[in-house]
Amino acid sequence: MADMPDEAIVLDDVSKQFGGYQAVQHMSLSVHCGELFGLLGANGAGKTTTIKMMVGLLRPSSGRIRLWGHDIVSDALQAKSAIGYVPDNPNLYGKLTGREMLSFLADMYHVPRDKQRSRIEVLLETFGLASHGNDLVQSYSRGMTQKLALCGALIHEPKILFLDEPTVGLDPVGARQLKDVMLHLRNEGKTVLLSTHVLEVADALCDRVGIVHEGKLEAVDSPQALRSSTGDEHLEDVFLHLTGKERTDTALQLIKVFEGDGSAP
Ligand code: ATP
Repeated sequence: MADMPDEAIVLDDVSKQFGGYQAVQHMSLSVHCGELFGLLGANGAGKTTTIKMMVGLLRPSSGRIRLWGHDIVSDALQAKSAIGYVPDNPNLYGKLTGREMLSFLADMYHVPRDKQRSRIEVLLETFGLASHGNDLVQSYSRGMTQKLALCGALIHEPKILFLDEPTVGLDPVGARQLKDVMLHLRNEGKTVLLSTHVLEVADALCDRVGIVHEGKLEAVDSPQALRSSTGDEHLEDVFLHLTGKERTDTALQLIKVFEGDGSAP
């Protein structure tokens, strides 16, 4: 491909402060073109803040981010045209129908009119929403809203797809469809970056994962390489190991709470 950059996503020493609080600290990362990359981290680790900076919704306090070779701050339009983004809690236009919303987004992204209709129908069909396409979005369940947001993020065939906690709110069938779609996109050469707490999803799907702890990227590698580097059998144990939250400590604290010995915090 003529316009293929060296890397799909590049973070160069990126930090974000909220007042005096350092939510993201000196993060550097390269996500390869065609890679399925997972950001893992506990609640409050800084995953959403990092993704919001990557997609241009938050400005980094320092450092630079390039998407498909374009700087997200100085070349925002080009950078944003290369990406699709599904936030953790999508807020869609409730008074539009599913089909209306997708055609509105298709117009926004300059998808040619002659291609819009078939693309919208394929997406609705893929996510099992075709029979609800003429319903108002405000009548959609949480999982349906999540799926429609995903259709919207894919409408312009982006080179990079960002998904913040994509499996939350999906039933097992929806979660499976989403996994298949992510693998399909990766096999088509698209780059997918997702954040998740569901470590089995990351283990099964991701080519590489980055473990975020207190705003810092603690480790980046394939799940398999991380497992062998720490000697752990499961990615969950690697995660607990690297974030200093051993499972036994947590279990012991809980036992103390239930036994009421008063030594728990
Ligand atoms: P979760 O898995 O719970 O969604 P996360 O890893 O996505 O967590 P972030 O939402 O990035 O975490 O939050 C990282 C830290 O930054 C948290 O301590 C959070 O309270 C703080 N933070 C996020 N947004 C803001 C904001 N707008 N103002 C102040 N602090 C913020």
